[in-house]
Amino acid sequence: MATVLPLRDFAAAVAGERAEASLLLPPGAEVHAWQPRPRDIAKLSECDLLLHIGAGLEPWLAGLLKAFPKGRVRTFEASAALAHSGPSGQAIDPHIWLDFGLDVLIVRRLAEELSRIAPAGAAAFKANAERLAGRLEALDAAFSEGLADCRGRDIVLAGHSAFGHLAGRYGLAQRALYGLSPDARPKAKDLMEAIDFCRAKGIRTVFAENAVPPDLADTLAREIKGRVLVLHTGHNLSREQLAEGLGFFDLMAENLAALRDGLGCR
Ligand SMILES: [Zn+2]
Repeated sequence: MATVLPLRDFAAAVAGERAEASLLLPPGAEVHAWQPRPRDIAKLSECDLLLHIGAGLEPWLAGLLKAFPKGRVRTFEASAALAHSGPSGQAIDPHIWLDFGLDVLIVRRLAEELSRIAPAGAAAFKANAERLAGRLEALDAAFSEGLADCRGRDIVLAGHSAFGHLAGRYGLAQRALYGLSPDARPKAKDLMEAIDFCRAKGIRTVFAENAVPPDLADTLAREIKGRVLVLHTGHNLSREQLAEGLGFFDLMAENLAALRDGLGCR
């Protein structure tokens, strides 16, 4: 069971037929500020392994795990598996799945963890993990090539700062109206600064995320006489996306197309 979509999809691919992978959060639920209900606790008690990101993404998780006897729920913390750390005193960007190089490392650690739980599957887990790593490396190469030659390098985001890892990896800059979590509303001053920034740089594209109400993106786009394109953070799926059977790789392919369009890439 996973707290975010990428971990669910990675687990499904690595475990193959030996496990079922599911999301702990219901469709559309927002992971940063989620409030687990009693039935979510019951769901958690049935899983053999809980996959989570850590690094502050799931502030509710420690309290949820306290409902169980110590050691009852086995957990895999993806950010800890990377030994991922930032400068002390600074918040770490927990959206590590948007760095496809880090995903490769997570997938390999995950195969090792599954092998500890089910040693008979070790060879299959390793082979599946390497196949998935290959897909992630191909995705990384597609982003590298697709974003190499663009008119703009600034991702102006009427959403929260989820794309720092992605921007850093491909030489882009993220300018978001929310912080690392989408719970604090942006101030009018932040919006004014974003408008000035876009006008000064001739930016006509505002990126918005599904999980955040569109009013802010629409306002900003109107002010700069521009348009809104959607970027998927990939935390979760909406009910509609779930019904369409979309997964992590589908969302990332849509992201690359939106970025190439919005940044004017050749
Ligand atoms: Zn987030």
